[in-house]
Amino acid sequence: MGNVRLYDKSFRPFIPYDKIEEAIDTVALRLNKDYGGSTDVPVLLCVLNGSILFTAELMKRLSFKCEVVSIKLSSYSGTESTGNVRQVMGMTGSVEGKRVIIVEDIVDTGKTIVDLKRILSEKGAVESKVCTLLLKPDKYHEDIPIDYVAMEIPNDFIVGFGLDYDELGRNSKDIYVLDTDMKYYILFGPPGAGKGTQAAAMVEKFNLCHISTGELLRGEIARGTQLGLKAKALIDAGELVPDEVVEGMIENKFNTVKDVAGFLLDGFPRTIAQAEALDRMLAKAGSKVTAVVSLMIPDETIRERILGRAAVEGRADDASEETIANRVRTYHEKTEPLIGYYKDAGVYNEIDGLGTIDEVRSRINSLMEKY
Ligand code: AMP
Repeated sequence: MGNVRLYDKSFRPFIPYDKIEEAIDTVALRLNKDYGGSTDVPVLLCVLNGSILFTAELMKRLSFKCEVVSIKLSSYSGTESTGNVRQVMGMTGSVEGKRVIIVEDIVDTGKTIVDLKRILSEKGAVESKVCTLLLKPDKYHEDIPIDYVAMEIPNDFIVGFGLDYDELGRNSKDIYVLDTDMKYYILFGPPGAGKGTQAAAMVEKFNLCHISTGELLRGEIARGTQLGLKAKALIDAGELVPDEVVEGMIENKFNTVKDVAGFLLDGFPRTIAQAEALDRMLAKAGSKVTAVVSLMIPDETIRERILGRAAVEGRADDASEETIANRVRTYHEKTEPLIGYYKDAGVYNEIDGLGTIDEVRSRINSLMEKY
């Protein structure tokens, strides 16, 4: 089981399906003991949508006669002083004169339980008990007893087995927890510093997803897309493409990649605006930049290296002296200010980019191992 990414968030495996099944077995045994042999027909109240899977698995294990009714609550911020108000969107059957077992996926603050208990008594239920798959004891401070608890969990954000993040993730058999430990490394430095060369080994060693905005843009150009056509003229002149374009590409990658320990950003951010946009994207995922690995080489070396690379890789923007000079100028003007930005954030690390590929690689590795 690897990590899964839902939208902008990454989740790591937390409770595997076999453990969930065991916990449901145990809670079902207790219910069978307490309700078995009675003459009435209790109602299982499935609280949509989160409890769909739990209700289904639980029902299969119950040996007494029971009915199933579903209910959906929606919360909205009302204008009343009471703040959040929950409204019944529908209850699919009658509970009048019945004993009810509320089947919940998770109880955290317990506000839903308070509302449900009130609604059930208004609708004439003679008794209501609560059966939940998960309970967050650190968050739950209501007086109502939670009668049946399959598993207790710490106060973390989880998805799977019916629970969602913005409606995604419900269909996972296993439960995942928000992974705030995702690593976000920035490989920084002037053009020709060796970022692309070093990135290959770094992603392999640390199981990272390499995102090179330059490579992504060259891919767009090769495929002749609209975006590629627009970017080509700017790239060939040694200018930057607009911030929104590269930011969109980065966000798209964050949202679609799976099973990595983190990301290695190469060629991004290149402006303060991009760095701020990155901070916002990561903040949404409960994260921030882990470290900036900055490869430094003098301006004279930049020119030599790029001209050398032009002969091997044939990149249009490597071939002309004028474009190279413009890229170096753009770097000093727009990108270098990021050094101060990341020093202030306490994540900036400089590495001497001169020497053999292996020498630079071992300097990078000893730095990365600290994070
Ligand atoms: P690179 O392969 O990183 O040297 O990038 C090649 C060219 O792609 C740059 O000179 C820019 O024209 C463009 N580019 C790459 N990354 C960015 C970025 N983050 N912001 C703006 N333009 C970029």
